[in-house]
Amino acid sequence: MIRGGCLCGGVRFEATLPFSDANYCHCSRCRKHSGAEAAVTARVPSEQFELLSGQELIRVYEPDDGAVKAFCSVCGSSLFGRRWPEGDEIAIRLGTIDGDPEIRPELHSRNCAASVARRWRRSRHPRRLRGAVGAGHQTRGRIC
Ligand SMILES: [Zn+2]
Ligand SMILES: [Zn+2]
Repeated sequence: MIRGGCLCGGVRFEATLPFSDANYCHCSRCRKHSGAEAAVTARVPSEQFELLSGQELIRVYEPDDGAVKAFCSVCGSSLFGRRWPEGDEIAIRLGTIDGDPEIRPELHSRNCAASVARRWRRSRHPRRLRGAVGAGHQTRGRIC
């Protein structure tokens, strides 16, 4: 079990380890959203995730053709991606985790579709990634 939250402390959550995977994304959307060279995100199955506080503080930016970006409306911390709060996975910005997330992101992608393709090739259990791969194909190169 690991906990995390935003900078102001209004949003708190916990997740049961392990994370499914983690990556750096250097696409322009992830750079702008994070304010950094890359957004670093780790994913857990949604049943391994629980929001403890701050639901009312979370705002969601939803591009027409890409993944959502959920952030704290008080302090601006980038918190969650993908399809927050829906979907079978919760994509958590790794920088919001308190302590050691016990995963070291290795993949560097320019966009999430490329990331998904690499995950597919690397995975021994591709069925687990079925939803993500489908989304990647539909929105090739523009999933972020
Ligand atoms: Zn906050
Ligand atoms: Zn991206």
